[in-house]
Amino acid sequence: MPEVLKAPLTVEFPFTRSLGPVQSAFLTGLRERVVLGVRTGDGRILVPPVEYDPVTAEEIRDLVEVTPTGTVTTWAWNHAPRRGQPLDTPFAWALVRLDGADTALLHALDAPGPGDVHTGMRVRIRWAEQRTGAITDIACFEPYDGERAQPTGHLGQFEEPITGIVAPARLDYTYSPGRAQSAYIKALSDRRIVGERCPSCRKVYVPPRGACPTCGVATGEQVEVGPRGTVTTFCIVNIKAKNLDIEVPYVYAHIALDGADLALHGRIGGIPYDQVRMGLRVEPVWTEDSRYPDHYRPTGEPDADYETYKELL
Ligand SMILES: [Zn+2]
Repeated sequence: MPEVLKAPLTVEFPFTRSLGPVQSAFLTGLRERVVLGVRTGDGRILVPPVEYDPVTAEEIRDLVEVTPTGTVTTWAWNHAPRRGQPLDTPFAWALVRLDGADTALLHALDAPGPGDVHTGMRVRIRWAEQRTGAITDIACFEPYDGERAQPTGHLGQFEEPITGIVAPARLDYTYSPGRAQSAYIKALSDRRIVGERCPSCRKVYVPPRGACPTCGVATGEQVEVGPRGTVTTFCIVNIKAKNLDIEVPYVYAHIALDGADLALHGRIGGIPYDQVRMGLRVEPVWTEDSRYPDHYRPTGEPDADYETYKELL
């Protein structure tokens, strides 16, 4: 049985969103230690606020201040906080209905242990020291025995309102590519490109997935393909990706390696972006320490006949 690979994989991207008038007021309010909700047509106060009535779909613009004190309506204990969560010690995730609101807000509640948290307990907002106009301006909630706080009478008009936020999205995986792709990756470290042939339809899949999606049978026979191939289709990338050290515009292509019945993706280099074309013959370029081709470049051969790759677009 060949060794199956495993590696940590992180998918991370910043999500930039603009805020409408309601979310803008809500987040700018947090920066100023003011909590705003909205009033629906039937008089309910929603916190956190929404732009449209969840029942009637009517647009809502009537901002209402509520207080930074409230009541826990339900909760769950978080034994092991993860990276990026509001607190780095164990805490409760709680739904808190702020005084004056009809709905509850999800946030962290700082408490010594689960025995110190109960539904109905009174809490208040602990504000972050540095506030920027984000939900994290509420550092967390904390237990509170005192008086119900009073609203300051704010109407939701602010100097320099926040109009957009960047929400980082991140997923951490342990990825196992499985038997077929482990063999594919191992072969790459010898600068060989190896696919698998379907015993039924005889198609060669590169990279191999371990089974033929058409026939539904396992693929076991390893077949070396390439290294040369044909550009079957391509796009010109004009947007520079963060953390990617490639100047735009550049070309990203589907490449059918010789002997493969599936095109893989790769960047095309060594040719001006506006001269790349369908049928262009290319070969991989490996950098010193790369375990996969850095990009593909033209071989100088005549272009492939469309008939030879029309099934591989
Ligand atoms: Zn098949």
